[in-house]
Amino acid sequence: MPRVLLLATTTGYQTRAFEDAAERLGIDLLYAIDRCNVLEDPWRDKAIAIRFYDEPAAIDAILEVARQTPIDGVLAVGDRPTVIAAGVLEAIGLPGHPPGAASIARNKLLTRERLRDAGLPVPPFVPVELSENAHELSRSLTFPAVVKPLALSGSRGVMRVDSSAELVAAFYRLRALLQAPDIRAERRDTDDAAIVEGFIAGREFALEGLMNHGALHVLALFDKPDPLDGPFFEETVYVTPSAAPPEVQEAIAATVARAARALDLRHGPIHAECRVNAGGVFVLEVAARPIGGLCARALRFVKVGDASAGPPCSLEELLLRHAIGESSTDWTRESAASGVMMIPIPRRGILRRVDGLDEARRVAGVDDVRITAKSDQVLVPLPEGASYLGFIFARATDASGADRALRTAHRRLVFTIDPEVPVLQSRHG
Ligand code: ADP
Ligand code: CA
Repeated sequence: MPRVLLLATTTGYQTRAFEDAAERLGIDLLYAIDRCNVLEDPWRDKAIAIRFYDEPAAIDAILEVARQTPIDGVLAVGDRPTVIAAGVLEAIGLPGHPPGAASIARNKLLTRERLRDAGLPVPPFVPVELSENAHELSRSLTFPAVVKPLALSGSRGVMRVDSSAELVAAFYRLRALLQAPDIRAERRDTDDAAIVEGFIAGREFALEGLMNHGALHVLALFDKPDPLDGPFFEETVYVTPSAAPPEVQEAIAATVARAARALDLRHGPIHAECRVNAGGVFVLEVAARPIGGLCARALRFVKVGDASAGPPCSLEELLLRHAIGESSTDWTRESAASGVMMIPIPRRGILRRVDGLDEARRVAGVDDVRITAKSDQVLVPLPEGASYLGFIFARATDASGADRALRTAHRRLVFTIDPEVPVLQSRHG
């Protein structure tokens, strides 16, 4: 039985799909989990406990286990463990993204430098320290600009600024965010630095792909139909296939392939985002991992030229097959259009209840509605927040139908969100 190591922050809904796929394929899954999460999950005794922030120790701990129970493939879920995954693959001599490439892909400044050096379109950018004088800095900038931390994800901390005053405010806000306990606990060494870059107007796309020994296989190109013009950049709807003209889609695929080459991402999953305008295709980032959260459920694959052969295969199944050495190129996305909405957090507060779930699920084309926020959880919108309310999935004959189904379902959901009660200071004087 082939064995695949899965690196994930938590087990739960994100890893369950891998478990199902592994069972279907007869693959043994071994987990390596960030240790603080293992403590929350003591029942998962199979997991290797590591610290994502201590990459050399994590790789050693995994290799120690791998000596007893050989590993045939490694997959990382989420941005943080991608370098560890790459290090393990390299150490055991399996094909993968080189660790250096994974680490550049996770850093927005290093990514920009690589893309620029390879001659790819990039906005003007400057590295900044959040302690520096933003007002003075703004003299050398043109607006609109975008401020972002070097190594967070999910648009956390990303802010558009249109003036010197907004830049000053954004620096304050980002400094405060980077002090948040959950971010400090991750102990990144990049957490006092940021990048300011030119705002790129245009439409945004996400490309899900697999690198096969240096060659990009595009699994799906998603349109992001909502304009993402800031000041914050909450992801909402993704639909595929893209409605962009074929030549634009080809330009996106070709540019992402060049970007992956520039970053040296060679073998394994990639998730790229880009913005397209008259100036070309601007790659925002290429992550050395698959699409996050539950969004993978929007993707299903069939055998090329034999769509009727068996049930469609999930992205997780395709990733596991790829991880144990199969090529992905005999798989292609199903013919139906598909979409997912990451349900945005409308305002800060405490989630009390969600109504209308049945009504939303009954909308024609809607496959599922999943609320992932817990009741009584404090909801934090962007730029500080790091989660969604949940996900809606839809399929239709074309992408605009999937988009409509998602929005109709969303309108049927009613979220009761109470304001947070201010914490009382000392009651006893
Ligand atoms: P993250 O890794 O947190 O997702 P990104 O660099 O991908 O950070 O930025 C998140 C979002 O912010 C992007 O999807 C895009 O909508 C917006 N964004 C980031 N940089 C720019 C830019 N230079 N111009 C316009 N929009 C941007
Ligand atoms: Ca992104």
